[in-house]
Amino acid sequence: GSSDAIKEPKLPLISLGSGSKAQPCLAFCLQIFINNEWHDAVSKKTFPSINPATGEVICQVAEGDKVNVVGMRWVCFPWERVQRGSVLVTSPRLFRKPCCLLQALETLDNGKPYAISYLVDLDMVVKCLRYFAGWSDKFHGKTIPLDGDFFCYTRHEPVGVCGQIIPWNFPLLMQAWKLGPALATGNVVVMKVAEQTPLSALYVANLIKEAGFPPGVVNIIPGYGPTAGAAISSHMDIDKVAFTGSTEVGHLIQKAAAESNLKRVTLELGGKSPNIIMSDADMDWAVDQAHFALFFNQGQCCCAGSRTYVQEDIYNEFVERSVEKAKARVVGNPFDFKTEQGPQVDEEQFKKILGYISTGQREGAKLLCGGNAAADRGYFIQPTVFGDVQDNMTIAREEIFGPVMQILKFKTIEEVIERANDSKYGLAAAVFTKDLDKANFVSQSLRAGTVWINCYDVFGAQAPFGGYKASGNGRELGEYGLEAYVEVKNVTIKIPQKNS
Ligand code: NAP
Ligand code: MG
Repeated sequence: GSSDAIKEPKLPLISLGSGSKAQPCLAFCLQIFINNEWHDAVSKKTFPSINPATGEVICQVAEGDKVNVVGMRWVCFPWERVQRGSVLVTSPRLFRKPCCLLQALETLDNGKPYAISYLVDLDMVVKCLRYFAGWSDKFHGKTIPLDGDFFCYTRHEPVGVCGQIIPWNFPLLMQAWKLGPALATGNVVVMKVAEQTPLSALYVANLIKEAGFPPGVVNIIPGYGPTAGAAISSHMDIDKVAFTGSTEVGHLIQKAAAESNLKRVTLELGGKSPNIIMSDADMDWAVDQAHFALFFNQGQCCCAGSRTYVQEDIYNEFVERSVEKAKARVVGNPFDFKTEQGPQVDEEQFKKILGYISTGQREGAKLLCGGNAAADRGYFIQPTVFGDVQDNMTIAREEIFGPVMQILKFKTIEEVIERANDSKYGLAAAVFTKDLDKANFVSQSLRAGTVWINCYDVFGAQAPFGGYKASGNGRELGEYGLEAYVEVKNVTIKIPQKNS
């Protein structure tokens, strides 16, 4: 509980920059953040955060575990509507203030290229928080005409204490996607950040106090899934859990909610998204976008276009050009501005991806380039392309979450729709064609939460994102994303007919 609060926070040193060119040290709290105070783990344990470009330990972080979550009485309390908007607006300004710091931490801990951390991730974080700040005084109820002498209206009330469990592929952005709608609607949050990438999220916790959030509104627990994460999903005081990560863990979360207090559950899980290239597509653009759809973020995207279906008459040319593009991709030090692809997030993912590559070869897919580790240290993998992939192969069915492209051939539009939909997943899909009728037909026929036409990975805080089928439950972002964070209360009043 809060009695464990440490009055004098420990300030571990983090050295930014790599190897011999270590830059001046930065100090901030790397502990458990509860009620705007910093705590050690009850167990006093810590865990290392690792730089995936080198495999070296960056620093130790307090390890929140079961007791840190279970031992708390989490309570939701009313906090002012005006305050929600103003603190949410203030926070993105703070994110930009420590010049280059947040994006450097993101790159150091996750391995994504620095230019992407800055130009893509941080930019989207700021836009997301601003967008939800605007909703904080706008997402309100309705008045409803009832039969008889009654006045009926609805109120959108906070769900209460929201557990949020986030992954490591977009640490800052997933934090913003979760905090934005929860805070705009007046909830309080208990967030577990991924064990691989706790640093940027903890820096944000350092800013939360400064932004003026009341104590207890945002609580952040670094630690492991099976301990701290599982304690959140089974906690009796927690009213909702929002999870982003693997489908496998999604099952566990839903089960824990069912077996504890039936807390509300929203899930954003995996995918095996089809990207359909029709023979009338603009070839240059389609090759470019299919490459981006798969390789962006080291291939670590839940919505990665990981089944590239190409119509037979353009198949050979498309494959040849995709291989050229993959071979030209610049892999290396993520702090180098020329780098397009950094390391995978950790050794486990690195090994898992190499395992899928050997499975692909064993099952008869044609390895056209890459296939190996790309450096002798760190978790780098060569951009890899498989051709002649068949629907029943493991690499066409399971989520690889790495820089490994699968290209499959198709003949007709009806055939490709059926094959595209033959997956347990339904997160995203895309179609490239100049024919509007084909584009409309395909987009309406695909069972996926997002369909891109002649583009890929276009996101905005205004537009909903989420999955059909085993890709999840509920939507994030946009007005739809607010629905998961409110309870709708119906209030009905008898209108007196006589003025007595
Ligand atoms: P994961 O285990 O699902 O991790 C996601 C989050 O859930 C992490 O914070 C994790 O904690 C936590 N977690 C793990 N077990 C839990 C449990 N029993 N109860 C509550 N929370 C739990 O994913 P991963 O192992 O890092 O990656 C495995 C695969 O998941 C990837 O290869 C990829 O296919 C998929 N993935 C998908 C997304 C996505 O955006 N949809 C993101 C990441 C990974 P820890 O920090 O201890 O792991
Ligand atoms: Mg790390």
